[in-house]
Amino acid sequence: MMGLEEPNQAKLFYTDFHLESRVRENHPLRKIAKIIDFSFASDAVADCYGKNGNVSIPPTVILKLMFLLVFYNVRSERELMSTLPERLDWLWFIGFDLDSSIPGHSVLSKARARWGSGLFKLFFERIVFQCVEARLVDGKKIFMDASFIDANASNNSVIDMKSLKTQISERYKELESRLNELQEKESDRQYREMNNRYVSTTDPEAGIFGKGKSNLCYKTHRVVEERSEIITDVEITAGDVDEGQRLELLWKAHKKNTEIEAQTVVADSKYGTIKNYLFCAENNIQAHIPDLKTKGAKKKEKKAKNKIFPDTLFKYDIVTDTYICPGNNRLKRKSYHASRASVDYAAAKKDCASCDLRNQCTRNKDGRTIKRHLQQDTVNIMREKSQAYKSKQDIRKRQHLMERSFAKATRYGFDRARWRGLERVSIQEFLTCCVQNIQALIKQESPLKQAAAMALKQESYEILSYKHAMPNQIKSFFKNSLEFFANRFRYANSGLLLLS
Ligand code: SF4
Repeated sequence: MMGLEEPNQAKLFYTDFHLESRVRENHPLRKIAKIIDFSFASDAVADCYGKNGNVSIPPTVILKLMFLLVFYNVRSERELMSTLPERLDWLWFIGFDLDSSIPGHSVLSKARARWGSGLFKLFFERIVFQCVEARLVDGKKIFMDASFIDANASNNSVIDMKSLKTQISERYKELESRLNELQEKESDRQYREMNNRYVSTTDPEAGIFGKGKSNLCYKTHRVVEERSEIITDVEITAGDVDEGQRLELLWKAHKKNTEIEAQTVVADSKYGTIKNYLFCAENNIQAHIPDLKTKGAKKKEKKAKNKIFPDTLFKYDIVTDTYICPGNNRLKRKSYHASRASVDYAAAKKDCASCDLRNQCTRNKDGRTIKRHLQQDTVNIMREKSQAYKSKQDIRKRQHLMERSFAKATRYGFDRARWRGLERVSIQEFLTCCVQNIQALIKQESPLKQAAAMALKQESYEILSYKHAMPNQIKSFFKNSLEFFANRFRYANSGLLLLS
């Protein structure tokens, strides 16, 4: 008999309803709740709350809500909070019930302002260490790269601070006071490179990058390890900060987060500076990084109509501390630059003036000069090593590995800033990296992987037990081999080799 639809009448009470049973067993949030500890948040931000007054939403709940925002790439906090009562899985995940009152969306922005990015950095570091403990991280070889994050501000908001028209306007005074506050706050961060001329009125902390049509953006600097492509460190800067300056900081942060010292660093030519090569040489790190100077010179050569002799054609004479040029003249020490830690060598003006090779050698009317770093020999060794086959292989691998990491992040909307200001963009990126690392942790936790891990364990156990049996087998193998060669030698000496 066909059933007919009954008029829908909303129930006042529900019996036999459990939120727990409404979330399927293999739901990703169930796996996340099982392996990730969010409860640390309450202790971590305890100092940000007073002893009296209104009771706040628990920090653990807010952290989980922020996590959901990025994990499901929800467009805004307003949308997240309006969707929350409709999603049983989200309610279950944050520990709410059907009749729990839903807080307003502003609790999230207030909590961010109160906590800063510290809690999210801590959350990221905890996840990284959890990955290390789950043996997902090898950490001996690390890959580095940077990518842009579009700022949450229009390019039209950029003004020229030096133009008179701007300075007359009322908004300029307001912006100037905001910038002064910002610079006072940032004074302890020496590496921050403020673009002092062109500034966005909406997001003054974003950097302007690009030739021709410039872009307002931030930059994320990531370290990814080789084994499971876990992001072991991340740092956010304004978009105009050069990634070549970040290598040392990133290497140290990787060591701090994973407690593993990386022995190989793989990066693109933007990291191939003298400073980075020397840092790697001092710390015994393999720098699989193409040389910035060589790449730049090749580009220039391609563009230039009349090519000039590269520095490599000038031979350094260690005895006389001079260079010998292709015209067989000597370039002597001319000046020392303490800031660059380098010495300039120059040919005599009259030598170059009368030289037949002048057109191919220099366009400087005073003659050719060559720069030499005080540790040039070390730099040369590092540059040579970066040309080795293994290094080139890693450099090729880096391109795919890093692009994969950033491509996965676009699922969580990493390429567009949700909020304004460096602190808030850092929060977004920490959460994105946490989500990516947690995805790797979940995969590791899946039953198939667990079975594979068990099989591997069993196999390694068998190998180990085989290892114990090895000494006797090796002994007998060598004994047999020695006997065989001794017999051959005996036969050869007695002229019986042919017969044998
Ligand atoms: S131009 Fe000067 S530096 Fe160059 S080859 Fe001639 S003499 Fe040597």
